Amino acid sequence: MRSINNRYYFDYNATSPLAESVKDWLAKGDFPFANPASIHHSGKTARRHLNEVREFLFSSFNLKESSFDLFFHSGATEGIGNLIRGYFERHEKASFVYIATDHSCVFEHGKYLANKGVTVLELQVDPNGQILSESLEKLYNLKGPIFLNWTWVNNETGVVLPLQQVDAIKTRLTDCFVHVDSVQAPGKVSNWNQCLESLDAYTYSSHKFGSLKGVGFTFLRVNSDIAPVIVGGGQQSGRRSGTENSYGVYSIMLALKDLIANYDSARSEQSLSIIKESILSSLADGGELVAAAAPFRNSNTLYVVFNHVKSDITSVAFDLAGIDVSTGSACSSGAIVPSRVLLRMGYDEIRAKSAIRFSFAPNITETQAQEYAQKICAVVKRFSHLKK
Ligand code: PLP
Repeated sequence: MRSINNRYYFDYNATSPLAESVKDWLAKGDFPFANPASIHHSGKTARRHLNEVREFLFSSFNLKESSFDLFFHSGATEGIGNLIRGYFERHEKASFVYIATDHSCVFEHGKYLANKGVTVLELQVDPNGQILSESLEKLYNLKGPIFLNWTWVNNETGVVLPLQQVDAIKTRLTDCFVHVDSVQAPGKVSNWNQCLESLDAYTYSSHKFGSLKGVGFTFLRVNSDIAPVIVGGGQQSGRRSGTENSYGVYSIMLALKDLIANYDSARSEQSLSIIKESILSSLADGGELVAAAAPFRNSNTLYVVFNHVKSDITSVAFDLAGIDVSTGSACSSGAIVPSRVLLRMGYDEIRAKSAIRFSFAPNITETQAQEYAQKICAVVKRFSHLKK
């Protein structure tokens, strides 16, 4: 989609525009406004809407209501943070395990818990984002309960770590709670809706697939021993107190229906490969695609490291060409900070400051892919002469 304000928006892993159905619904403006906890007619109508969304989500993600609780929150940073903190409130002797390339909302908890004396294991990865077997051995040797965070689809690199892999890991451990950070799965992998009942929790941020911002949801195995972090009115069975964001929640269902109607993974993969081949040929020896040889990749992300050109330069060039992209390296007080994910994947500091991420809409056509490739490559070619 040539997006809002006449820009080419290739930053779908950061967030997505509103789904058409959400825009139409907002334009109507006659949604139920009442507090879903109120017992009057209007409150009951709002509650009915929430329940409709709950049922829809259970059926869409292949999970049974008898096996999982579902609760809404403000998005994955809150959902994941509270799950981790709530778990460690009840399991003081447990170890915290995460993957080196996980999102900062997980990574920062590694530091937080280590400071509190918790045993923390960061699983190391190779340049294709695959977990090293030495790290897995360390995991198998941990004693006592474990909280393992598993990122299904990496937001920065597009590398997919299949659920079957973590399922096999879990079966080798006696007391391992597996939380799947599923934020980047919907509309980016063909089996996004095939959650495994054997894993313990899944968290989503629905603005990544077209809902209003500030809303997300978590499926959590029933009777999980996890303390609620946000307490108060006891809404959502006490799992997350606070008046539900009923507009936001309803927009999840609308956005997801759009996604289900429009996402064709085979077509997206085909479109992505058109753009990928064009970038590779324009890039020549001037850089490389990150994790190009990963066994499983998603259908919307290309992450390019340019030789000797930091991303503050390349991102401005894309910006001036009307293209919105993301850099893996954060800016702090005007200085580019290397991407932690690339450093962990074995890139040196200069290359970890030189990456640009393109992340596309879930439903692009071949014709759009050709147009996008042309646009992107006009910029890429300007930086392709610098050899390694
Ligand atoms: N996990 C992953 C894999 C993400 O990509 C993101 C956001 O980019 C998050 C967690 C956090 O989501 P949010 O910023 O919506 O809270």
